[in-house]
Amino acid sequence: MNSKKSILITGAAGFLGSHLCDRFIREGFLVIGMDNFITGDKKNISHLEHHSNFRFIEHDVTEFIKIDENLDYILHFASPASPIDYLKIPIQTLKVGSLGTHNLLGLAKAKRARILVASTSEVYGDPLVHPQPESYFGNVNSIGPRGVYDEAKRFQESITMAYHRFHGLDVRIVRIFNTYGPRMRLNDGRVIPAFMGQVLRGEDLTVFGDGLQTRSFCYVDDQIEGIFRLLFSDYSYPINIGNPNETTILDFAKEIISLGNSTQKIVYKPLPQNDPLQRQPDITLAKKLLNWQPKIHREQGMKITFDYFKGLTQEELYKKEH
Ligand code: NAD
Ligand code: UDP
Repeated sequence: MNSKKSILITGAAGFLGSHLCDRFIREGFLVIGMDNFITGDKKNISHLEHHSNFRFIEHDVTEFIKIDENLDYILHFASPASPIDYLKIPIQTLKVGSLGTHNLLGLAKAKRARILVASTSEVYGDPLVHPQPESYFGNVNSIGPRGVYDEAKRFQESITMAYHRFHGLDVRIVRIFNTYGPRMRLNDGRVIPAFMGQVLRGEDLTVFGDGLQTRSFCYVDDQIEGIFRLLFSDYSYPINIGNPNETTILDFAKEIISLGNSTQKIVYKPLPQNDPLQRQPDITLAKKLLNWQPKIHREQGMKITFDYFKGLTQEELYKKEH
């Protein structure tokens, strides 16, 4: 019998999922990665292909999931995560947050595994409370274009808590705030790859609205550490993991222009509907319960990420998706 702990990671070929696979392999786990590649990329996990502690299953988690071996833990990270992606595939987004989560909770129950689900700062919608503590109920437009993501994630939290309360399932819920780093898809439309791609292609930077809306960006290694600590904590309610260092999108565009030593202009485009005006995590709870706080400064994380995008091929740099 194998004494190693086993973990199923959904969304394994995506940005966060692939970093989680790396972390749990490093920690000596048997990792089963699962993905249907709808927004992910095989390249993100190709280095794990022949690893003896890694197995990959291509599967859509909204369909029944059959795993023969024992499972100790499940991390449910499958879901489109960028506004452009979830506007393009709204039904799949709703399905993976609802049906997909239901399947994974059922699997966790059958295997008596602990499950951690990836929620999001989007459950707070366009927040009226700033910064956002976990106790804030949010301000979401259920029928707006972003509603497909926000409500799927709110449902995900509800059904996860229902399995916890009704079935006694061991659950964890992380509310992830904007996270960035290597392996983001250059064309996924999120602001960091979008601006970095524009700098690298010599294009003007597209700031939506007046650029005075804010975000707080967390480097991926910090995010993974927070998720890791949450999984092994004994806290079953949602917890914010993000970096409280808040900036306007306009200042951020200027930062990326200077990072590339470039001379590009900023051009203004309409602000997408229901785009949150302010976002900053209150991480008091994570500090207290997980003894966690971000360590990587934006300057350092941005440099690593920019160098990653610089390493892409010309074909990848100019690939058009939207
Ligand atoms: P990503 O798009 O890079 O990765 C998501 C992965 O899930 C992709 O590989 C995709 O192919 C896979 N997937 C989607 N639907 C699937 C399905 N039905 N079956 C199997 N696989 C499926 O996105 P990401 O940034 O890595 O986000 C991962 C998770 O973290 C998501 O649940 C997202 O909502 C959450 N999250 C991320 C951020 C962030 O800033 N990166 C912020 C908040 C929440
Ligand atoms: N944004 C922008 N230009 C772009 C892409 C995004 O100004 O080319 C803005 C977007 O309107 C939002 C912020 O950057 O206010 C962050 O967008 P992103 O898609 O990264 O994530 P969100 O936090 O909105 O989910």
